[in-house]
Amino acid sequence: MRDNVMDSDLVLDVKGVKKSYGGVEVLKGISFSLHRGETKVLIGPSGSGKSTLLRSINHLTHPDDGKVYLKGEEVTDSNIDKMRARIGFVFQDFNLFSHLTVLDNVRICQIRVNGVERDKATRRAYEELERVGLSDRADAYPAELSGGQQQRVSIARALAMDPDVLLFDEPTSALDPELTGEVVKVMQQLASDGMTMVVVTHEMSFARQAADEIIFMEKGYIVEQGDPQTLFTGAENERTRAFLNVIA
Ligand code: ADP
Ligand code: MG
Repeated sequence: MRDNVMDSDLVLDVKGVKKSYGGVEVLKGISFSLHRGETKVLIGPSGSGKSTLLRSINHLTHPDDGKVYLKGEEVTDSNIDKMRARIGFVFQDFNLFSHLTVLDNVRICQIRVNGVERDKATRRAYEELERVGLSDRADAYPAELSGGQQQRVSIARALAMDPDVLLFDEPTSALDPELTGEVVKVMQQLASDGMTMVVVTHEMSFARQAADEIIFMEKGYIVEQGDPQTLFTGAENERTRAFLNVIA
């Protein structure tokens, strides 16, 4: 049922999401929306609720209150498996299947979750590996790859599912600085190819170049949001400015 139709380009609509842990409210009613082809970058100090917010979108963390709509359809406990297949998630620590080759990592969910026929899944896997520059490593195991390569495989795996939206939770923060660039470059390419994505990151060069909007979170609230140019040159909120001064 499409119960939230207002705008056909609206991909993700997060409304009033709240979450508490042990009586402490870490998300205090977060709302934002994401349209087709948009890249939003979520920034904020450690502990401000960025991961909890991303994880609430596909119920890796169960929100206490609020609603999330994907293309007008509410994400609920009863449709969560179907919704998760449409919401790509890229984790800080890659989360690859260590006992599977690169090719199998990128193909397995296509086959098992989306029911894609094996040959088609293989072709798609190679296409996405090509896109992240790793089609020559299809037979390798994750442990044989650098962290940057593993993260690129994880991005290829998410892309192969044809998601409506991709969520990235600090995709480069487990990487050595020299490997961060290759992952940022892939994300920049995706953003310019028109992928719809939310990226939690401290990579301000990415935020400047790729973000349509930056959302600054602190203590479970959205403090300020705006386009990179405006935020980097003249954030209205003093705490946003202080944070950007330290990080950018
Ligand atoms: P960020 O990603 O911005 O660093 P998080 O969303 O990880 O912030 O965490 C926000 C707050 O919620 C922190 O105070 C953190 O300690 C707390 N928190 C996150 N996950 C859990 C959990 N599973 N159990 C208890 N507290 C948690
Ligand atoms: Mg986090």
